[in-house]
Amino acid sequence: MVYLDYSATTPVLPEVLDSYNKVTEEFFGNPNSLHNLGVKSNELLMSATKQIADLLGISEREFVYTSGATMSNNMALLGVANAYRRYGNRIVVSRLEHPSIYGICKYLEKQGFVIDYVDVTEEGVIDFDDLKRKVTKDTILVSICAVNSETGARQPLKTIRQVMRKNNENCIFHSDMTQAIGKVNVSVTDVDLATISGHKIYGPKGIGMLYKNKNLVLAPILFGSNELDLSPGTPPLPLIVSFAKALRLALKDISKKEEIVRGYNEKIIAHLREFPNVKINTSKYCIPHILNISLMDIKPETFIHALEMDEVYVSSNTACSKGKKSEAVYAMYKDDMRSETTIRISLSYMTMPSEITEFLNSFDKHYNELIGLKK
Ligand code: PMP
Repeated sequence: MVYLDYSATTPVLPEVLDSYNKVTEEFFGNPNSLHNLGVKSNELLMSATKQIADLLGISEREFVYTSGATMSNNMALLGVANAYRRYGNRIVVSRLEHPSIYGICKYLEKQGFVIDYVDVTEEGVIDFDDLKRKVTKDTILVSICAVNSETGARQPLKTIRQVMRKNNENCIFHSDMTQAIGKVNVSVTDVDLATISGHKIYGPKGIGMLYKNKNLVLAPILFGSNELDLSPGTPPLPLIVSFAKALRLALKDISKKEEIVRGYNEKIIAHLREFPNVKINTSKYCIPHILNISLMDIKPETFIHALEMDEVYVSSNTACSKGKKSEAVYAMYKDDMRSETTIRISLSYMTMPSEITEFLNSFDKHYNELIGLKK
């Protein structure tokens, strides 16, 4: 099998799964129980929470656990909208966001909010002139991902914050860091709110977090016994402990791992440049882990299923918006065909050089076959 869909989800590292199993067996007590078993579980919860805070350079009180990035994005956008609506009713988002952000925006529009979409340059990054135009005194929140999940375009978060704050110094900045954390060096403290998901960093599915700067107040989206607890309910200790371990391992040797991935990315690009009709949708801002191409003459679904016959797995734009055109590619090139025929190849430091060769062989075989059928 050649798995090149690491941006859709990652396998769980064996040592992370070990932690999950161990905690499930040995720490089954509810961390909220008063007896010994509960106390033991609570101590482990506190220590995993401290580990995550230390790894991210934040305080233990500055984040909450969620079920993943979708929930973190909901908590951030709904939480800000409901807590700060007396200061304004406008929210700015980019055209590079995950469908979960747009889903919340649609809901908020029905609640009377105005959503402003900021344009993207040909290089796949935020257009600062447009950002300056869109952030007004009524804008309470800007939400821009750290890395786009389709093209891998990385956004300059520090500069975005400076630009938006010039127009409105109270405007809150959220970033969906799902595709950035554990791949490239990025700091959650560059923004006020940051989304992270466990299953994109070789951790288990069903766990994520939302970083929240201590000066912010979020309106809750869930309600339990303690109204100040944004994430009520029994803490999923095995998920939390194994997520902490996955995060630690993901951040270890991050630059070295990025260089390995860059080598693979360059090898694939050099090979695909031999095909004059295959477009490579990239710019100097794209991280090497995500490589987006357009087949132009071949339907992406047909090609994905052809590769599948060789047990080679890639995506058409993202797993979450299958069958639709790639908004991120359209934003860069304003070309319908190019944005409707995209394939996303997503790479890992765990990818073996032999897998790249197998992928390229399978690509050549099926591409030539399918193009031959069209002639
Ligand atoms: N945001 C981004 C940028 C993503 O890539 C994804 C996953 N495709 C999500 C959010 C949703 O993540 P989760 O599955 O953890 O809810």
